Amino acid sequence: MDPISQDEISHVFDEDQVVLPDLSTVAWDHLDYLGWVHPSGHLAYLVLVSPESGKLTGSVLRRRPRISKRPRYEMCSWCHHVHRNNRTAMFTLSVKGTEGRHLIGKVLCKDLDCSLRIRNLVEPASYMDETLYVQARIWRMQKSMHRWLKRANRL
Ligand SMILES: [Zn+2]
Repeated sequence: MDPISQDEISHVFDEDQVVLPDLSTVAWDHLDYLGWVHPSGHLAYLVLVSPESGKLTGSVLRRRPRISKRPRYEMCSWCHHVHRNNRTAMFTLSVKGTEGRHLIGKVLCKDLDCSLRIRNLVEPASYMDETLYVQARIWRMQKSMHRWLKRANRL
């Protein structure tokens, strides 16, 4: 994605709603969206260019880590990375206009680093090998992300 500034980010959220990320280490070339987690761990933020308006759009997500004592496999529904040992979280998005009464959730990589996983830039690798090439994986991730945001009227 094209680099964006802290100023642009704060403009897509209501004030006081957002803790801005450190952008000095962001590898923009490897990202399809910008996602980061609030220091408390209970919230996360998503900023991307809407395919409908061509403008930046921001969403606040509730985040709940999934803790299981028994090792199990979990797949991120954006990047299809298969994790072991609690590396995913449940993210929920409130449907705009419902005052938080209607929430829709997704199991995603807990740090929202799916763009990097798709490009095989994060260790450990997925527990399930995929033969799909990178562009197709990006397309699949964006489609899933856009559909979810659209259902919440936040695209
Ligand atoms: Zn992921």
